[in-house]
Amino acid sequence: MKTLLTAAALLALATPAFAQTTPAGPAAPQPPLPVQRLATNVNLVIGEGGNILVLNGPEGVLLVDAELPQGAPRVMAAVAGIDPSPLRFVIDTHWHVDHTGGNRYLTGQGAVIIAHDSVRTRRMATQTLRVYGAVVPPARYPESLPIMTFDSSLTLHLNGETVRAFYTPGAHTDGDVLVHFVNADVVHMGDTYSAGVYPYIDTASGGRIAGLIAAADRVLAIADDDTRIVPAHGPVGTRTDLLAYRNMLAVIMARVQAGIDAGKSLEEIQAGNPAAGYPLEGDLGQFIAVVHDSLMQPQT
Ligand SMILES: [Zn+2]
Repeated sequence: MKTLLTAAALLALATPAFAQTTPAGPAAPQPPLPVQRLATNVNLVIGEGGNILVLNGPEGVLLVDAELPQGAPRVMAAVAGIDPSPLRFVIDTHWHVDHTGGNRYLTGQGAVIIAHDSVRTRRMATQTLRVYGAVVPPARYPESLPIMTFDSSLTLHLNGETVRAFYTPGAHTDGDVLVHFVNADVVHMGDTYSAGVYPYIDTASGGRIAGLIAAADRVLAIADDDTRIVPAHGPVGTRTDLLAYRNMLAVIMARVQAGIDAGKSLEEIQAGNPAAGYPLEGDLGQFIAVVHDSLMQPQT
């Protein structure tokens, strides 16, 4: 099942049930999460909150992204089916709760949580998702926060793999990291890459469409035709898919900017459908509103 982070899902993340970091109470048994093998010791667990990349081996397990709070035990059940080695590291791609919600549970499983500096800062304070009008309260527990943060890049050497996490500024948020498993040639782009659905840009968290394009350019510069590119939500893509996505964003940005330059209102720009030719899933009107809001903000 393809998981799409819709407007409704984003709003749901702002409810107290999702804001807390304790898994929900007893629930009916759920089927195992789908697992997609990408390399000998690299798998993708397709979680409820998004795609979790798993590096496993005798030196321990590393995850990229931490799932929703209530979904983290299910992710760990899937990981145990891949490799019973202990969990050691989790890299959060950005602060949104569908990517950090499982931090507390995973800390309890032995993980060191790693993220960009901004992820910790933002999870310590109330956040607002503009356009959707949703408010996300701060993390309640210290274990929900990354304890190792970095500014520009960080490299981990684990199980023979070189894991490069590097910051891409002002894209989906102001705390996105791209994670490259160099030997396996797999890149997790978090929410800077959307597959088949209009992307969300969290402008209140410093996200900008120009930064989203720059994030794609950074990955295009290191990717070749064999590189697997993992979005936060949706199927694994190729360099060709990412290039098409990047070019789509550039066209839509230019069209919305042209409307702004011509003095048009948001409603007039939406009526002209600047995304014509790019029919994706999701709420088109809200996507255009987000792009418009991004272009009306100070550019970083
Ligand atoms: Zn996000």
